[in-house]
Amino acid sequence: MFHCRLSLLLGSLVLLAAWTCSATAAEKQLLAGAATSNITPPLGELIVGGWQPIPAKHIHDELHARCLVLDDGDTRVAIVLCDNVGIPEEVFDDAKSLVEEATGIPASHQLMAATHTHSATTARGKSKMIKDSQLTGYQTFLTQRIADSVQRAVNQLEPAQIGWGRSEEPSEVFNRRWFMTDAAHLTNPFGGVDRVRMNPPRGSSALDRQAGPVDPEICFLSVQSQQGRPIALLANYSLHYVGGVPGGDVSADYFGYFAQKIASKLNATDQQPAFVGILSNGTSGDVNNIDFTQKSPKRYASYEKMQEVAEKVASKVAEAHAQIEFQPWVPVAAAATKLPLQARKPTPEMRKHFEGVAARAKDDPAGHRRETIYAGRLERLSDAPDVVEIPLQVLKIGDLGIAAIPFETFAETGLEIKDRSPFMEAFTIELANGSFGYLPTPEQHRLGGYETWLGTNFVEEKASTKIVESLMKLSNSLQEQAK
Ligand SMILES: [Zn+2]
Repeated sequence: MFHCRLSLLLGSLVLLAAWTCSATAAEKQLLAGAATSNITPPLGELIVGGWQPIPAKHIHDELHARCLVLDDGDTRVAIVLCDNVGIPEEVFDDAKSLVEEATGIPASHQLMAATHTHSATTARGKSKMIKDSQLTGYQTFLTQRIADSVQRAVNQLEPAQIGWGRSEEPSEVFNRRWFMTDAAHLTNPFGGVDRVRMNPPRGSSALDRQAGPVDPEICFLSVQSQQGRPIALLANYSLHYVGGVPGGDVSADYFGYFAQKIASKLNATDQQPAFVGILSNGTSGDVNNIDFTQKSPKRYASYEKMQEVAEKVASKVAEAHAQIEFQPWVPVAAAATKLPLQARKPTPEMRKHFEGVAARAKDDPAGHRRETIYAGRLERLSDAPDVVEIPLQVLKIGDLGIAAIPFETFAETGLEIKDRSPFMEAFTIELANGSFGYLPTPEQHRLGGYETWLGTNFVEEKASTKIVESLMKLSNSLQEQAK
């Protein structure tokens, strides 16, 4: 009798608990808002995607900051992707302060990143390691326009439903670092010989094998109104950029075309508020879309190839999008930290090598063709601090975890984060909240190559390991809090 009553009582308690949970979840309503800001620079500003800066002569397509704001009733987060090659922390920090003042969203809950289009003008300061106290005209403009995109997204917050999905596009991702059998391809500007070569000559008989993996995954999250009107879609793909732009042209690259194409595939081209498609860059520091085994690849007209890639990625997303289930509410949370990293400094051997370079006649062709560029880069590092505090962040959106790393991150690091993340679905946005150069893993540092050269990379060799550990701590703490 007693047992019976107890089990009845326990049974009702369980039922009550279940009912209370579903009742609160049912009462809760996610809000979402999205907006874009035009961040196109004036002509004449410098395009810095290549080895030499060139002044912008033409705007092929406008550049944007694309923003999505989510609010679970308790917590609000903002995500902004900017069409730029890399934006320094001080620009993002100023934008975050403006946003916090206007909307109350704390800086830790704002994820701001660059897409890494190579055909935008510079928003960088003089150095990736030395903060500028005074912003340039374009940096100030960018700061305000980024903040405007968040405020306008907040203005447009409305009851929404959310869902996410994934797909793969393996045909456009190739690891660009190759082991080569001929040392002639492996020299570096420091007078040494590397083991791997970035962007080797196409079809070379000295190609051995690629030095790292690729991540073909496309992850995305989608928000729509209660009636099913698309509000925004944020996708993530690990491909450096596409290019194929005439010199002096400004363009958002395939990130801009993706935004247009996903809008039309979701029938969201003509609506108010406007739908916002966003493609973020995943972990593509060592990945581009060139198949180096092909000696004579297909020739493309300007802007043709980037449209082809955008079409492929948008099609895969649209296909997977048809399968996703939307939910009226998910918990939203964010965590951020600063991680101190040792700055790399020129070794005595490097200094000696560049003294020799300086002493050599200017027209002496004996040296590496990037020697003088790296001599200058090392020279400018003499004023750099010994330690940099880099920003790291994780956003939790239901069972999705978004990690933010302020470096051009290698695919293997992104894959490790996906593998170890406590979230059901996870991806990384690179060049987020700052821009501190390339982030090779310790193993890749040992192999050498462009991305590991001091002046391209600026921080200690163990940086990627420390960053992943720190991001896992943030992710686990967010999952713990949610229990
Ligand atoms: Zn790049």
